[in-house]
Order: sequence, then structure tokens, then C-alpha cells
Amino acid sequence: MNAPPLPPVHLPARNSDAHKGNFGRVMLVGGSRGMSGSIALSSMAALKTGSGLVTAAVPDRCLETVASFHPCMMVVPLADDAQGRFATEAALALPAKLKPLDAIACGPGMTMAAGSVRIVERLLQTTALPRVLDADAINVLALMDWPAPENVQSSGRLVLTPHPGELHRLTGVPPSDREQQISIAQILAERTGAVIVVKGGPTVVVSGDQRWTNTTGNPGMATGGSGDVLTGVITSLLGQKMDPWDATRLGVWVHGRAGDLAAAQHGEAGMTALDILEQLPHVIRQCV
Ligand code: AMP
Ligand code: MG
Repeated sequence: MNAPPLPPVHLPARNSDAHKGNFGRVMLVGGSRGMSGSIALSSMAALKTGSGLVTAAVPDRCLETVASFHPCMMVVPLADDAQGRFATEAALALPAKLKPLDAIACGPGMTMAAGSVRIVERLLQTTALPRVLDADAINVLALMDWPAPENVQSSGRLVLTPHPGELHRLTGVPPSDREQQISIAQILAERTGAVIVVKGGPTVVVSGDQRWTNTTGNPGMATGGSGDVLTGVITSLLGQKMDPWDATRLGVWVHGRAGDLAAAQHGEAGMTALDILEQLPHVIRQCV
């Protein structure tokens, strides 16, 4: 039998006197009416990757739905509009909630409502926390013309996880030109200090002039919610104090390996993002 593939880096072992504060407090901001599952998947992935405390910050109308997915996550409501999307006042409440955190993610299921734009602006401008921007947070970056000089501050602890369509919106390079997408992501990474995940088969991670190609994953992962799980994994590893380059590479590797175990069990066609989520603990225990 083939030996299992090895992760690019390892998680530190847990001290016997450890408490939950040692493993990171993370917050995942997103969701909207009809897309509560996205931010729930990210939050549950953070729990299963080892975070000490996980909070989902969601539009008020989504609170009960998101909370019902898992009893171990906390959920805080932010101001919403009549359609259950973030309202502009949601961004005002955010800075106070950032203080105790070790890492934050934003984007899954969020929509590009006015409140989402304000939230992304705040996260770019007012915090140096390790941050993951995914999904609609990346679409908002494209809307803001990121990385224009006035909004490129503190990208050093910023991780972007675009799929090919989101990278197209951000850079103008179409998904059909994958090599060019990787090259432009590398230029963006060098210019901004951000770590950028170029999703696909295989996923490529770029940071400065470094480039790393993942060895795990399969086409069964092309299914709704799969990327939301990845966001939670990387956020959790950032919250566990890994540096962004290591956290992102390990997160991508773990997510792909969980996808491979899910495909072995359910087949590529039948597997769902929930199956990837369920495999995370089995992969994480091999990464210590
Ligand atoms: P998203 O489109 O945001 O849900 O993300 C999809 C996730 O599944 C990313 O992590 C991709 O890298 C992964 N994925 C999608 N298609 C493939 C593929 N053909 N091979 C490997 N991974 C894939
Ligand atoms: Mg996605």
C-alpha cells in the first residue's frame, strides 16, 4: 500500500496544560438569507481544524439558522437589511469585536450588499489581524479596485482565496488562461505582501516570489461549499499562530487530503462539502 502523503509543515503538539485560549479565537464574517450554510461550513471547518473558540458573525436574520448547524460555535448578529444581507451599520460594530481575536475571515455567502463593502474596507484599513478574504469579499475587492495605493495597507497578514471566476473579476484575466492567472496572482502577491491561493486542480499558492503547488485534492471537490471549508481551515491555522505562508499551504494541503478521503468513501460525484468537513479531523491528527 502507498504511504500517505506528507504535509508541507506540521502543527505543534499540544502541551498537557493547554487551554482553549492557546489555540486561537477566530471569527468568520459572512452569510446572508439563503446562504447561511456557507459561513456555517467555514465556522465548522475552523472548529474541526483545532481552533479554541469560533464565532460566526452573520446578518441578524440568519442568526438562528447558522447557530443551529453546530452547538460548539458562537454566533453574533450584525445589522442587516430587509433581504437579510449586511447593512452598512454592521461595519460600525466590527472593530470592538476584533479585539480578542487571533484571526478573522470574511466573505462566504456574504453578497456584495453595501454593508459587505463597508466591512471589507474596515478589515483592510483598521486591523493588522491575520485575515482571510474569500468569495464575495474578493468580489468587493474587485469593486474597490484593490490594490489601489489608498487601500493596500497592511496586506502582510492577508490571505486571498479566489476561485478562477473571482480571480478573473479581481485581475481581468479569464479562467481559461490559468498560467496567466497564476502569473498575475504572483505579481499581486509581490506588490501587496498578501498570500494568494489560486484554486484549481492543482491549487497553487503564491507569496512574494515564492510559489508552491499542492499535491492533494481531486475533481470531486468541485462542489458547492468546498471553498467555504478551505476558508475555515486556513483561518483556524492562522489563529493557531502559524505564519500566513505556512498556514495557507498546510490549509490547502489538509483540505485536499480531506477531499481525497471523502472521494475514497463516497466517490467524486457523490461527495459533498459536508463530507470534506467530516474528514478534517482524520487529516489534522496526521499533521501533528
Ligand atoms: P470554491 O469554488 O470556492 O467552492 O472552491 C472549490 C475548492 O475545491 C477549491 O479549494 C479548489 O481548489 C477545489 N477544487 C475544485 N476543483 C478541483 C479539481 N478539479 N481538483 C482539485 N481541487 C479542486
Ligand atoms: Mg468559494
